[in-house]
Parts: sequence; C-alpha cells; structure tokens
Amino acid sequence: MLAWLDHLCDLQNSARHDRKVALEVEDRFVTLSEQQDKLTAAREKYDDFREVPQDFQNHALRRNDKAFTAFRKRCKENAAKKGYPRYKKRVRSLTWSLRKYTKVVRRKTKDAEKQTLRVRENPIIETPFRHNRLKVPKLGEVKIRMHRPLEGDPKEVTLVKKASGWYAHITCELPDTAKVEPTDAIGVDVGTTHYLTTSEGEKEDNPRWYRQAEGLLHKHNQTMARRKKGSNRWYKAVHAVTLHHERTANKRKDFIGKLVYKLFHHCGKHVLVAEDLQTSNMVQNKHLSKSISDASWGIFFTWCGNIAERDGFHVHQVNPKNTSQTCSACGKKSPKKRSLAIRTFDCSFCGTSLDRDHNAAINILLRAACAHRGERWVTNLCETRNLPVDR
Ligand SMILES: [Zn+2]
Repeated sequence: MLAWLDHLCDLQNSARHDRKVALEVEDRFVTLSEQQDKLTAAREKYDDFREVPQDFQNHALRRNDKAFTAFRKRCKENAAKKGYPRYKKRVRSLTWSLRKYTKVVRRKTKDAEKQTLRVRENPIIETPFRHNRLKVPKLGEVKIRMHRPLEGDPKEVTLVKKASGWYAHITCELPDTAKVEPTDAIGVDVGTTHYLTTSEGEKEDNPRWYRQAEGLLHKHNQTMARRKKGSNRWYKAVHAVTLHHERTANKRKDFIGKLVYKLFHHCGKHVLVAEDLQTSNMVQNKHLSKSISDASWGIFFTWCGNIAERDGFHVHQVNPKNTSQTCSACGKKSPKKRSLAIRTFDCSFCGTSLDRDHNAAINILLRAACAHRGERWVTNLCETRNLPVDR
C-alpha cells in the first residue's frame, strides 16, 4: 500500500506538471478526460502503471483536477491569493469508488416477474470473529475493525495512512432528511477565553489542546533534534512527534463533535446562529494566532452545517461586524472601541451591564432574527435595532 501511495504521489505531481507546462507554453487548460486518456495509454505501455488499480489513479487525477478547478475559479474571481496547486511531497490517501452491479431478486411465486436491482457492492465482509474484512482491489481482503455499522448505500472507500495506522473512510449515500420546523433559536459567539457563549449566557470552557500538548511536544522535538538525522532512532522520534500531533487533533475533533451534538440535541434548539468569521485574516494577528488556530472554529462551523444537514436542523451565519461593540439592549454602538481585555459590556446609553461574549451572542441572534423576520420564524424583536451592516 505504501508503494501505491508513492506511485500515486508521482502520478499526481506529473499530472500537475502536465497542466503547468500546457498553461505556460500553450496557454490552455488541460481537462480531466485528456489526462485520463493519457493514463490509459500509459497503462498499456508501462508495467508499473498496471500494478496499481486504475481506480486509484483516476481518483488521484480527479484530486488534481479539483485543485486546478478551484485555482481557475480564484483566477476568475481575481482573488488576492490565487494559490497555485502545489507540488506534493507525499500522498497519504487512496480512494476508489464502488461499482454498481445488477442484482437479481429471487422470485417468490412463479407468476411474479424477475426483479433486478442496481445496487452497489458492499465493501465489508462481515465475519463472526472480532475483525470484519474489507475488500481492497488487487490486495484482497484486509482485516478491519468496524467502529460502527454502515448506514445507507456505500459509494466510495478511502484508505488513509496516519501516524497511528491505516484508516478506511467509507462514504455512504443517505436519503435527505426533512427539515425540522424551526421554533427555537440559539445564538453562539465563539472566543478564545471561553470556547463559546450562547445567547442564554451559558459558557463552554476552551480546553486549549495545543497549549496542553506543547510541553510534551517540546520534549519530543528535543529528542528528535539530538538524534542523527536519517537514523533509525531519529525516525522513531519523528514518529513520536507525529503521533502526538495526531492525538491532539483527535482530542480537538472529539470535543467539537460532542459540542455540536450537545447544542442541537441536548439544548433542543432547531436553529443555530453563528458568526461568519474569516479565520484566515484573524490568524494574522500574531498575539492571537496560536489560540485561534488551536480553537479551529472552521471545523466547528463546518460540522455544525454537516450535522444540521444530516439531522434536518438549521444553521445561519451572520456578519460578525461590531457584534461585540453594540449594546444588545438598546442597539447603540459604543463610541470607543472596546478592547478584548475588558470582559464586561457596560452601555453608556442605557446602563446595561452584561458579559462581553453574552452580549455578542445576543447580537448575533438578533441579527439573524432580523434577516429572517416574517420568512420562517417570527420574533417580537425590534427590526430597527440591528440593521445589517455592509461588509
Ligand atoms: Zn445600551
């Protein structure tokens, strides 16, 4: 499998090079189907191409195509950062799609017509033992440990090499969930002192995973630095570092997953309102960048959207401008810019004193309420208060 990954890495890089040359010399974009034809030709010619299943290679080309399509889109939009697809030093995953085949359903009575169904093959072979098996092309059956049963129709399998081992991601197709009728909404303000504050004033602590991990990471890095580069002991130390990073990432994802679930299911809210933050700009603040990257609000917002789509809930993102500078009771913006260090919001107009994040969360909720007033859910809030701010 490692040899496959090396091959796919080379393939992806040469596909990138192909496009780069075509763009520079002939000033044209190479399409995916052109490259796939080239791949088929190469498979007839070279032995090492034939040793790798074509499905993996196609997916590597597709991945490259995706990167270039996004790049072209950015060029058209004249984005500040065009982000030319990079040379990959290493590829960590391989994907293949599961084919559909025709299954004949047995006749129960003689008169009934033969029924045929188009189904996808199940990549999992269930066994009565501890390990189930996964069918991998050209390799055969591989022992796997299933952590949950498959739901829906399996479509694609991705094998990922991580520091702690190999993982199989199986993508399944599920029917759409009907949207729940929205009745109750909650606003959420994310921050670094507390991970988030809801519009009801509840706070969630920020576990600061990276800060926790830093001490041990430093130790591991020291060990690595002392050892001779390229030696076996050095590789062991490198592995320890990557494993440590993976664990930290797992902790973070575990927390975020549970938090999103809690917000939707335990609080009983159908609508979640959050800010539409531009994290890439925010990490440029050198005092906060580590904390902001560590909090990974990006994952939080994405997962909110994913879970909402899966379970039929609603998510709205509103413009975050001045949410922490405006009073949630009277709607007036404070004349002076309030620094992050001041944790309470004292309104100089109406005298309201609230927690800073709580105030911001209420503002976020109000903004969404104004945007959707009369459409889906009606609130008795004053519309003139939080006029939408142009970004
Ligand atoms: Zn006020």
